[in-house]
Amino acid sequence: MLLPRFEYHEPTTLEEALKLLSELGGNAKVLAGGTDLLVRMKQKIDRPAHVISLARIPGLKEITPRNGHGITVGAGASAATLSRHELLWDRFTPLASASSRLGSPLIRNRATIGGNLVNARPAADLPPACMVLNATVKLKSRSDERDVPVAEFFRGPGETVIEPNELLVSVNMETPPPWTGGAYIKLAARKSLEISLVNVAALLTLKSAGGPIVDAKIALGAVAPTPVRAYAAEQVLIGNKPSEKLFKTAGETGVGMCSPITDHRGTMEYRCMMIEVLTKRCLSMALESARSWKPLK
Ligand SMILES: Cc1cc2nc3c(=O)[nH]c(=O)nc-3n(C[C@H](O)[C@H](O)[C@H](O)COP(=O)(O)OP(=O)(O)OC[C@H]3O[C@@H](n4cnc5c(N)ncnc54)[C@H](O)[C@@H]3O)c2cc1C
Repeated sequence: MLLPRFEYHEPTTLEEALKLLSELGGNAKVLAGGTDLLVRMKQKIDRPAHVISLARIPGLKEITPRNGHGITVGAGASAATLSRHELLWDRFTPLASASSRLGSPLIRNRATIGGNLVNARPAADLPPACMVLNATVKLKSRSDERDVPVAEFFRGPGETVIEPNELLVSVNMETPPPWTGGAYIKLAARKSLEISLVNVAALLTLKSAGGPIVDAKIALGAVAPTPVRAYAAEQVLIGNKPSEKLFKTAGETGVGMCSPITDHRGTMEYRCMMIEVLTKRCLSMALESARSWKPLK
């Protein structure tokens, strides 16, 4: 399949890229890893007259810790880089884990976090992980910039709040408090190169290693037109002592917050069952991780 004709731009600074976007706007598409865009262009779903590559813009791939307070992940950081990042595994586990489950080694080498979020597929791996970590995205245009919580970024399948003249430049997260642990589970028909049937990210904060839950975050993917923060299920957990029974109740509550579809990958009923089972399992994994929390060396 051949790509349709387009004009290719390779800006070497962020300012140049933003100027191009402000001039070309809706006639242009940003190219990061290309694992979504080029497929859609070959299938003639997207036919941009201009393609603006981010490849030569310095700094967009960098991951920068902020003195123990948080982390800034450049929009161009690849899933492979995220899945190998020690600090992400230690403090932002759901994101490192979700990155390690995206696609295959070849896809992970190209696929970026920015592309995964802007592409906004309901079953994508990184959005639920970003949501439980309370991540915000920095959106820049030539004249403005704004920070949007990832939980408010998605509008529907393939739709986000980003404007045609804006670039997603980074994903920012505060470091979760002590005694926090997280996990990510992806259910798919195969172990790699497969879209999620259901995915779950969870983050639990305990008062102490053996103490009650003081904060909880759960996000679910492939269960609605956009990824879902399961706020009601989180409320079931907060203030209570962690237990299998409590996690089961949270899983049951999570099901009520979703509207999964039946498709060739699985039925609505199967997805509902899996939301319950996987939420419980993911919470147990997050608990184990929270209980083994250690200060960084
Ligand atoms: C074989 C295969 C397997 C896959 N498996 C998975 C999987 O398991 N899980 C999963 O979640 N996804 C999967 N994907 C989808 C894809 O790999 C990911 O969504 C990937 O993260 C997209 O990133 P990218 O850098 O390639 O984006 P691109 O294709 O370059 O861009 C995607 C979209 O985002 C826009 N965009 C990109 N970066 C920016 C930016 N910084 N600012 C503004 N707009 C931007 C582009 O204009 C385009 O509309 C798979 C794709 C393929 C081809």
